[in-house]
Amino acid sequence: MSDFDYDLFVIGAGSGGVRAARIAAGYGAKVAVAEEFRIGGTCVIRGCVPKKLYVYASRFAEDFEDAAGFGWNVPPARFDWPTLVAAKEKEISRLSAIYATNLEKAGVEMIAARATLEGPHAIRLSTGKTVTARVILVATGGAPAMHPAIPGVELAISSNEIFDLPQFPARLMVVGGGYIAVEFASVFARLGSQVTQVFRADNVLRGFDEDLRAGLSEAMTHAGVTLKAGLLPTHIERAAGCLRVALSDGSTVDVDQVLIATGRAAYTAGLGLEAAGVGLRHNGAIIVDERSRTNVPSIYAVGDVTDRINLTPVAIREGHAFADTVFGGKETIVDHRHVPSAVFTTPEIGTVGLTEEEARREYEVVDIYKSTFRPMKATLSGRAEKTIMKIVVCGHTDKVLGVHVLGHDSGEMAQLLAIPIRMGATKADFDATMALHPSAAEELVTMRTRSARYERGKA
Ligand code: NDP
Repeated sequence: MSDFDYDLFVIGAGSGGVRAARIAAGYGAKVAVAEEFRIGGTCVIRGCVPKKLYVYASRFAEDFEDAAGFGWNVPPARFDWPTLVAAKEKEISRLSAIYATNLEKAGVEMIAARATLEGPHAIRLSTGKTVTARVILVATGGAPAMHPAIPGVELAISSNEIFDLPQFPARLMVVGGGYIAVEFASVFARLGSQVTQVFRADNVLRGFDEDLRAGLSEAMTHAGVTLKAGLLPTHIERAAGCLRVALSDGSTVDVDQVLIATGRAAYTAGLGLEAAGVGLRHNGAIIVDERSRTNVPSIYAVGDVTDRINLTPVAIREGHAFADTVFGGKETIVDHRHVPSAVFTTPEIGTVGLTEEEARREYEVVDIYKSTFRPMKATLSGRAEKTIMKIVVCGHTDKVLGVHVLGHDSGEMAQLLAIPIRMGATKADFDATMALHPSAAEELVTMRTRSARYERGKA
């Protein structure tokens, strides 16, 4: 008989926690998972999944317009926000139920309560009960960080609320220039909002390839988003029938909603981590080793709460590896390199590996291959848009260090590009690969002319 109520107690039923619970239970562990909100976590309930559904909704706007160039006569289309919200709700409820069923089938006990740590093996539930576990996994994810802390910020919403707004915002201000900000600006502009995006940097998506950043901001402006770089809101107040936002240049903008998308923070506050002696970084994220173990031997953490790479598939991998290592007798270390990612704007960004700037910092000689072209569909639709592709190559070894694409379906491309890049493919391997015609991706294997070579120490 174990001295504990459970072999594993998981706090948080998001992507990482659910995977860890299911796999550990499969190894015969007695597992419980506590969730205070809905099974599925940010990704399923108010992140990746509903976001992508809204991205699809937004793209019909251009499809209807583009159809004319292909001979279609489309009557003026009308968008109905409540229909989309209800359809989204139905789908995420379905997915949440599947997650719950899978946990149940695996024999995991689900506890609808908030859980806090009381020690290295003790958990207190909001129901009042205290339970014990040999191993505890913290998988509580992250929560929106509402920056800057200006007067009236409580009138603004975060990405948690935007999916279910009772009324469609005819005028929307988006604060921030990261993933969430550009994605929602792109979605709402296409659904019919007048969008103003305000961010402190000189351009959106700091850290992404510079050519892609420039291409995206051009596309967003073209889609009707008013980009205000180098500014921040200083004050939000209610005015007649609107929210009035004062900006750092002294101007004001009247809108119906203000979406703050200035990053997410690890959701560790009030979890009792201090009581259990768990070490945190200055930003509140849990410090873990490569096995996702904290400084307390019985407590582990996976996913956004550890602030390593805050993406769903990474959390899933970390949760799975934790269960394999701790309960399956299969030591598994997650490889956090070559993680592809996409930004679901329109057009979207797909990227894997080093940017040109990163490669130039790390490598002596860097070769750049770049192509900018009009997508084939735009020839008949007449839409002014361009696709940008960039391949970053090590000038010494010919190894492809990174690929960056702005264009339709580039997220799909990035997923597949991650395979050769992870395997160490060279530019010669790309060149030796037969093109698939006509496609946009064929450009990735037909770029022969180097657009630039950077040698360290040479201008
Ligand atoms: P990001 O880190 O991507 O962007 C944060 C933005 O907020 C940046 O523009 C940043 O500016 C700005 N910012 C940060 N602090 C302040 C401040 N104090 N005042 C003003 N502006 C500030 O965060 P997101 O919230 O967009 O997304 C969180 C994470 O979620 C992402 O990093 C990603 O890991 C994940 N995610 C992934 C998606 C995907 O894969 N498609 C989609 C959505 C989220 P600056 O650049 O100047 O620092």
